[in-house]
Amino acid sequence: MKDEVKKKEDSKNEEAAAPATVTPPSNFIRDIIERDIKEGKNGGRIHTRFPPEPNGYLHIGHAKSICLNFGLAAEYGGLCNLRFDDTNPSKEEVEYVDSIMKDVRWLGFDWEDRLFYASDYFEKLYEYALKLIKKGKAYVCDLSADEIREYRGTLTEPGRNSPYRDRSVEENLDLFERMRKGEFPDGSRTLRAKIDMSSPNLNLRDPVMYRILKASHHRTGDKWCIYATYDWAHGQSDSIEGITHSICTLEFEDHRPLYDWFIEQLGIFHSQQIEFARLNLNYTVISKRKLLQLVEEGHVTSWDDPRMPTISGLRRRGYTPESIRDFCERIGVAKKESTVDIALLEHCLREDLNKRAQRVMVVLNPVRLIIDNYPEDKVEELDAVNNPEDESMGIRKVPFSRVLYVEREDFRDDPPKKWFRLAPGREVRLKHAYYVTCTDVVKDEHTGEVVELHCTYDPESRGGWTKDNRRVKGTMHWVSTAHAFPVEVRLYDNLFSKEDPGDVEDNADFKANLNPKSLETLASCQAEPGLKQAKPGDRYQFLRQGYFCVDTGDSKPGSPVFNRTATLRDTWAKIERTQKASEE
Ligand code: ATP
Ligand code: MG
Repeated sequence: MKDEVKKKEDSKNEEAAAPATVTPPSNFIRDIIERDIKEGKNGGRIHTRFPPEPNGYLHIGHAKSICLNFGLAAEYGGLCNLRFDDTNPSKEEVEYVDSIMKDVRWLGFDWEDRLFYASDYFEKLYEYALKLIKKGKAYVCDLSADEIREYRGTLTEPGRNSPYRDRSVEENLDLFERMRKGEFPDGSRTLRAKIDMSSPNLNLRDPVMYRILKASHHRTGDKWCIYATYDWAHGQSDSIEGITHSICTLEFEDHRPLYDWFIEQLGIFHSQQIEFARLNLNYTVISKRKLLQLVEEGHVTSWDDPRMPTISGLRRRGYTPESIRDFCERIGVAKKESTVDIALLEHCLREDLNKRAQRVMVVLNPVRLIIDNYPEDKVEELDAVNNPEDESMGIRKVPFSRVLYVEREDFRDDPPKKWFRLAPGREVRLKHAYYVTCTDVVKDEHTGEVVELHCTYDPESRGGWTKDNRRVKGTMHWVSTAHAFPVEVRLYDNLFSKEDPGDVEDNADFKANLNPKSLETLASCQAEPGLKQAKPGDRYQFLRQGYFCVDTGDSKPGSPVFNRTATLRDTWAKIERTQKASEE
């Protein structure tokens, strides 16, 4: 009963809003915001936005951006909008919109009534474009995409003016209106900003603002056949929403002069673009384009395959929103690209789950152990502590009887030195139960495989302590064969076997670096009976085996499938310890 209450509380916490963290360490974005507040810029108002393009599921990199945008707003008493950057009709789908909202909420953030779409602004953007044309700052160009590229020049060579650059305002207004009406074929004309074809910044060489694309849009349908480019839509959307700090990744640094130019030419509210380095993680890829390939080509089962670095994949794997937020805070923000060790992400997870996961016993690779001196019909209900880290999680009863399952790997016929587990003549402690000594081994005549272990137990060692205070070094988990039930367990390893999967020879495919052993399915594990009640999404620590989560896709009532979220081996803690030691 108590367990249930506890679990309910946990799941409640999970949906609760992310608390503004206790005085987090500063970073250059916080410095900018604090300076702006001090100087009274925008009346001290802080307003950010998270602007995903709905062309895929969110990944751990997006989590960094979400935590940053929503986190800063919460920290400084500001607001954060969710805005779908849906200016590209061909690749965008409603499925992505729904998954993105679900993921942001799950991470613990709330946009309240501030859900926006760049497509809400199509009419406004069109008006703004007319304004620029009238100012002589934009023109309709008949060059093809290839020709535009050719005219643009290179980093070392200036570009050339388009022959259509000096069209009159009237002609431009007429042609642009007819572009909107659908009079011209796809790709035949564009609207371009008239800036400077010899600018050292290529983004300022008369960038395209609109292209003709007769495609249906998931929200505006067939109303439009001209679509704004990212550069034209993004800054103006920020301005319309009164965004004070428009935080984006480093690749947009060179676009900032253009971002500013549009806003200044239009004389509208000036949002400030701030760039930070995107998150890279080793042993995986973080790019929607690549993740989409993995899904479409069947290298993973879906966007939420537990091996995917997507938010939905991490959730299904058993990650908690708290651990992801903690990770995002710890990696911080910087101006320089770097790659974060995936061991840090797992470390944040272990720290969180260690506090909250109930300990249970599941034997992954079972072999029978028979206690010859234990009465045949006897069953004892033994007390088992649910979490030694948290007494309030209480105890549960676990049935114990004469025939048990233990891990096959916990027995060695011919044990090496320092072997503390079971071997002929050796004594070990069975967790929550008794001391047992191995007396005999039954093997398959033909294969030599161990079929059965025979032991005797010390009846006076109940609870794991002997009268004479005899000590053993090995403690093993077990389940009672008459009470246990079979479960499927899925073990995961890194999705890629190479640290930087994107690092491939010319023309080679990053998928060549996929780890063929990223998933191992164990179909006949044995679980303690209480786990029959486990519900999709419940998280546990299987003693000695790691953290596990009930799969939300393939579990059935009374028949949970478990995903291993992480092993118990914390390589990050080890790295930290070694670093500390070398500093001392
Ligand atoms: P991808 O490269 O995976 O396709 P994207 O940048 O095209 O990502 P968007 O949907 O446009 O994806 O991104 C929404 C927001 O998330 C943007 O502000 C973007 O800068 C940010 N973002 C995307 N990837 C990362 C990352 N790896 N680290 C931090 N922020 C990111
Ligand atoms: Mg993008």
